[in-house]
Amino acid sequence: MPKQLLRLYHNLEFDEVKSHTLEYGVLSGVCSKCKNIDVKLDATACPQCATPFKYIAFQNVREHIPKMLRIQAERPNVFFLDYQDFKRVEGEQRARNILG
Ligand SMILES: [Zn+2]
Repeated sequence: MPKQLLRLYHNLEFDEVKSHTLEYGVLSGVCSKCKNIDVKLDATACPQCATPFKYIAFQNVREHIPKMLRIQAERPNVFFLDYQDFKRVEGEQRARNILG
């Protein structure tokens, strides 16, 4: 049967997710834990802080679907995280921290 990429929703602890996410832009990634830039997409851990990447959040999913399929085949334990969700929750958390 042909497979399709479909989004699922999981109830996750955001701090844990944030410390293991690679945020991937057009050509390079950012470690969400230490904000190290220029992380390669194929990095399984951050070259700077050594956190293992369990999640990858693509800024533009449509451009990266072939890469996502390849990564999923090679690294079945990696989950793709919706970038908008990630940024929304991060922003809410930051606002809560500012307000105390
Ligand atoms: Zn890092």
